[in-house]
Amino acid sequence: MNFSQQLNIIKTLVPSGEVDTRMDCPFCSGTNTLTIKRNNSDLLWYCFHASCSAKGNHEGEMTMEQVINTVVTKEKEKEKDFVIPKSFVSIFSTDKCTDYLKKNHCMESYIQGNAEIKYDVKQNRAVFIIKEKEKIRGAVGRGLTSQVYPKWFMYGDKSYPFISGDSDTAVLVEDCASACAVSETHTGVALMGTSLPDSYIPVLKKKFKKVIVALDRDATTKAFDISNQLRYYIPTEVKILEEDLKYFDKTQIERLFND
Ligand SMILES: [Zn+2]
Repeated sequence: MNFSQQLNIIKTLVPSGEVDTRMDCPFCSGTNTLTIKRNNSDLLWYCFHASCSAKGNHEGEMTMEQVINTVVTKEKEKEKDFVIPKSFVSIFSTDKCTDYLKKNHCMESYIQGNAEIKYDVKQNRAVFIIKEKEKIRGAVGRGLTSQVYPKWFMYGDKSYPFISGDSDTAVLVEDCASACAVSETHTGVALMGTSLPDSYIPVLKKKFKKVIVALDRDATTKAFDISNQLRYYIPTEVKILEEDLKYFDKTQIERLFND
């Protein structure tokens, strides 16, 4: 059944307004396998049955309020181009910085040009530059000693993720170092935590064909929450990790994802 046929059926199943429900699937007759959600004007559906292909998302007409919000937010974003501070210098200015990058498997990503990394003299941080194509959106700095607080610091715009790599499969990881480590085989996207900011969803939708949510065992529930948010748009898998990806070299990462 094609997209618009599915959409027509889905529309008849739920009332208008906010919806978040689960029911028997009319496409595969699965018991309670179909989830349907509507927030704002978006209608999303997904069937959990392994052999069912019912899945889709439909962006409806925006209300005037949504139009205004979108336009105004876009205008605001245009204004604030991130300017790299003078305190950001080469990573080779101190061994502390290169040692951290080596230990956390970020060097390869830097050398290959998959990540732009600097050293912030002022804050004593290894700084991962956030770029959207060639445009610099902001940066994320990791403190290089335990005295630097907070451990991770966000400079500039927080609405766009740090991305490293050029594969069309994204691996969502907790931090920038793990994103760099995974970039040799996939594209690493740093969540900077264990939840998915709404503003990352359109970016993932646009750039990738597949997403793997790769979080620690402690964050298993969060990993499944994220996959629940994303799978309406992109095929999404969850990979539970016993250890952070930044401690893995290329061979170990390949082995992990080939399991
Ligand atoms: Zn189904």
